[in-house]
Amino acid sequence: MSNSLFDRKIEFLKGVGPEKAAVLNKDLAIFTVGDLLQHYPFRYEDRTQFQALSQVFSAEQNYQIKGKLRGITVSGAVRKQRMTAFFYDHTGEVELIWFSGVNWLQKTLKSGTEYILYGKPNIFQGRVSFPHPELNPNLDVTASGLAPVYQTSEKMKKKFLDSKALSKIMKTAVDLVKEKISDPFPDYLLNSYKFVTKREAIEQIHFPTSQKALDRAEARLKFEELFFIQLKLFKEKGFNKKSFRGARFPYAKLLTSFYNNHLPFDLTGAQKRVVKEIREDFLSGRQMNRLLQGDVGSGKTIVAFLTMLLAIDNGCQCCLMAPTEILAQQHYIGLKEFADLLGIKIALLTGSSKTAERRVIHQTLLNGELPILIGTHALLEDKVQFKNLGLAVIDEQHRFGVAQRAKLWGKNRMIPPHVLVMTATPIPRTLAMTVYGDLDVSIIDELPAGRKPIKTTHQTDANRAKVFGFIRKEIEKGRQAYVVYPLIEESSKLDLKHLEDGYESISRAFPDLHISIVHGKMKPADKDFEMQRFVKGETQIMVATTVIEVGVNVPNASIMVIENAERFGLAQLHQLRGRVGRGAEQSYCILMTGKKLSKDGRIRMETMVRTTDGFEIANVDLQLRGPGDMSGTQQSGVLDLLLADLAKDQDILTEARNVAETIIKGDTQLEKPEHRGLAHHLQKMRKNHINWAYIS
Ligand code: ADP
Ligand code: MG
Repeated sequence: MSNSLFDRKIEFLKGVGPEKAAVLNKDLAIFTVGDLLQHYPFRYEDRTQFQALSQVFSAEQNYQIKGKLRGITVSGAVRKQRMTAFFYDHTGEVELIWFSGVNWLQKTLKSGTEYILYGKPNIFQGRVSFPHPELNPNLDVTASGLAPVYQTSEKMKKKFLDSKALSKIMKTAVDLVKEKISDPFPDYLLNSYKFVTKREAIEQIHFPTSQKALDRAEARLKFEELFFIQLKLFKEKGFNKKSFRGARFPYAKLLTSFYNNHLPFDLTGAQKRVVKEIREDFLSGRQMNRLLQGDVGSGKTIVAFLTMLLAIDNGCQCCLMAPTEILAQQHYIGLKEFADLLGIKIALLTGSSKTAERRVIHQTLLNGELPILIGTHALLEDKVQFKNLGLAVIDEQHRFGVAQRAKLWGKNRMIPPHVLVMTATPIPRTLAMTVYGDLDVSIIDELPAGRKPIKTTHQTDANRAKVFGFIRKEIEKGRQAYVVYPLIEESSKLDLKHLEDGYESISRAFPDLHISIVHGKMKPADKDFEMQRFVKGETQIMVATTVIEVGVNVPNASIMVIENAERFGLAQLHQLRGRVGRGAEQSYCILMTGKKLSKDGRIRMETMVRTTDGFEIANVDLQLRGPGDMSGTQQSGVLDLLLADLAKDQDILTEARNVAETIIKGDTQLEKPEHRGLAHHLQKMRKNHINWAYIS
């Protein structure tokens, strides 16, 4: 591409000027003509499809109606002005209302002129009105009847930059540069995918001549967008990864012995595969940096343990860090059983470890006598020093940041330890690939055999007596139950009150049973005490906030009641449900809500009832909330995509990734002449996209 035209400052474009340019800079981050061309329409008005006012009956959908204005009225004090007008066609009349941007609207909207209205109505007692509809003059459009609609802001409108005005400027820009738009893609790529050229794609995305041409333009640009992200990742991190030298672990004596003599069950195929992947890492001579993703209950812990045995087999120490004391303790108890069988020492270090215990731990870590340390953040303290840390396992990764990972790295000064990060957050694979650029990803996508799928129902408060009756029956069979209350804020008094009220009502309903209560405001020692009572079966019901969300493993607990389930997101509901279904018995999850639910809330409940597949749930979650909300990815800016949608365009992402991988494999530095365009484009990628390669 010729740089000069694309880099030209937007203010020098005909029809823009300094004032409008300043708003475009500020509100849309458009600085150059090139930036402008990437401001794609967010939808298209299909000027061939109109409804009549008499057809407006649903407040759930958008309507597009041709009509005229009359009776434009502005009322209210200066700062609280509102404007109303009547909009009519040959079938009827409705009221339009605006509460902001009144000044600008007053200047531009005219009675008697034909407009195209687009928007969702309010319908109250049969009366239809449209709050803040889009109104565009019915001007000429492209031959296709598809008119671009651009995102604008209130400030832009004040500077007379509405969608229509932007579209005019866009036309100027496209006409100015289109001869100069060269294609970054090599010919072979264009040919093999029958992609339209970049030039055609840019023209068509802004001014489509037909739906089909628009589809092809979108397909090309989406691919391009996802492709360059991946290309960048591969080029900078991929095969010529700046990987660190890592300890080689060739011996596997302990592992073999444990595997043959003590493993209490057969590994699932997925577990075997992951252990093999990790073994290969350990033989490579490079430092392992691996994300192990597996749905709740998929058996990540045993994989971690087998991995630890490999480190010990090769004269190294290992540690496992968990996000809470409860979890750390549980890991300790579970793994100690195994370690004892092999005669290996193991210790637990948390915030509440006693000074004397700490001293022994510090000492035996330093002199190498202690091969396995389990713990919480306490592991990160400077005092904790290893003789030779070979492997650090981090459980439930979303609670820890990158900084903590780095700190663990530093615990071996000679050679960085291998790092295994375990998470149950079911990030769709494609998203994981994009987000965790520098981690290799292993997935356990199979549950241990013989698990009965959890039965999930959705009940309203009216059925509470029935639900309690059911719980009683199950407890009489020897099972245990969780009852979970939402906790929006750790400190919220109201939430605590809900929990305490719940505890009381359950105590009244089950006066003969023993009931535990656990919440975030309790001291760690008290929490542990209650948790242990439940683990040992001394209490039958555990009333809790979401502190039990991650990792807790009580196989005999077979009922999970979630109160105010509508207040939980899907990911959290799935995590909570994962606390049951861990034993041989049939397990149940009961979602309690009020009668009234939002549309989102209803979809969440229906999804939970329909499926237990974490990946499917994550996909629905992604669609409901948009990728920007995925836990742990918000701050990365990673999902700042122009056209592509990670939830919907996963196939394109996979394809783009494969192509990017192949290209970098064959030309690691993009030096071949046919890849000159790719290299150039990578260099020019906007700043905020450059970070993509560095987050994790
Ligand atoms: P998560 O992946 O959620 O951390 P865990 O590692 O806690 O899951 O495992 C859940 C339960 O399943 C544990 O009780 C564990 O002993 C058991 N388990 C793990 N792998 C298998 C297997 N291959 N066959 C049978 N049970 C298994
Ligand atoms: Mg776990």
